[in-house]
Amino acid sequence: MRIVRLHLLERVVEPLLIRIGVHFGEKSLEKCKECKGKMVEAGEHLYLLPVKLSEKHEESAEYYIRNAKKIQSTDEIPSGTRACRMFIFECQNCGHKIVSVVDFLHVRGSEVLEGGDIYPFDKFKDFF
Ligand SMILES: [Zn+2]
Repeated sequence: MRIVRLHLLERVVEPLLIRIGVHFGEKSLEKCKECKGKMVEAGEHLYLLPVKLSEKHEESAEYYIRNAKKIQSTDEIPSGTRACRMFIFECQNCGHKIVSVVDFLHVRGSEVLEGGDIYPFDKFKDFF
């Protein structure tokens, strides 16, 4: 199980994080903005979104909180429907947390990045 998970992390998460690092410029996932400590992954959740294909939707923490429906695996994503992964990152030094939302379309086994952003954990504290 651990091997599978590590494999998934390599295949899916890291390329997405690299792309998000590029997309979101200064909002680094690697360093804490409070103390420059190292941020580590502290949780991952998968959700279905009421959006088809590459349709646009409002991108805000409030939108995701209102619309995201928790699912257990990508097998539960109907064809052509969007989903998102939410990763919680926590600073190893001061405990500061952020939420990285990766909004994607599941196509033939791969996850095509459609959007996403990094939000303060506070906005999601009653959501998880
Ligand atoms: Zn910190």
